[in-house]
Amino acid sequence: KENLKYVSSGKAKDIYENSSGNLVFEFTDRVTAFDGKKKSEYDEKGEITCKIAEYWFKIMEENGIPTHYIECPTPTSMLVKRLDIVPVEVIWRNYVAGSLLRRYLAGDITLPQGVGTEEGSPIPGGMIEFTTKFEAVDRPVDTDEILSNGWLSEKEIEYITDLTKRINNIMSQELASSGIILADFKVEYGRTPDGEIILADEVGTPDGCRFWKGDDFEKGVITSLDKDVFRKSIGNLTVAYRELFSKLQRTNI
Ligand code: 5GP
Repeated sequence: KENLKYVSSGKAKDIYENSSGNLVFEFTDRVTAFDGKKKSEYDEKGEITCKIAEYWFKIMEENGIPTHYIECPTPTSMLVKRLDIVPVEVIWRNYVAGSLLRRYLAGDITLPQGVGTEEGSPIPGGMIEFTTKFEAVDRPVDTDEILSNGWLSEKEIEYITDLTKRINNIMSQELASSGIILADFKVEYGRTPDGEIILADEVGTPDGCRFWKGDDFEKGVITSLDKDVFRKSIGNLTVAYRELFSKLQRTNI
């Protein structure tokens, strides 16, 4: 096996550097929620998540979204280009859920005009949010704070917003044919040595997206095929992730 240098560990991935200076993401079976307060491990989670990320990275590249993805050398690892990570996480929402609903119910925010106040209320046209990446707890930030901290320029915010919208359209369209609704997702971006901003981390995995079964949703029931299964303790994570992956693969046939 090639000489790998340990770099760091995220919530679900361990990161190494190879001799060419690229990074190797090792997808582990770990899962955490609520800023690390709830933790567990599920057999096969790493392998399924890695395969789902690989599936979506290829689709993104085919659709002209620039990404850091190179290849998956093993079933649980992904080789990616090393980037200078933009210190904000980007969240796209098509439906009310998660922290958006929580902040609304706590009286911290108002929802966009005309948007319902229940989990599953649609957000026409969608909405984008930004949170901090390198603070102990992910904290929502507005564009003024992003600009004044020098995290992104106004042009870069526009560019990232456009890319994120395109990613949403690509995923939502692809998922529609497998009967899955993309409620929301989180992406991260990084800068190449040339200063180009490209998609980083992982995309389209059930760790970082909310996926709802379309047929149940039509009946007014939300059935999650994502990390909400773990957050809400409503089933076995591996079973849900495996079901999601099998539905995705059927799309391609
Ligand atoms: P929320 O803000 O409602 O908790 O999350 C919105 C969406 O972004 C959800 O699909 C959630 O899984 C994803 N998300 C938010 N924060 C993180 C994070 O720190 N890591 C990952 N992997 N996904 C996140």
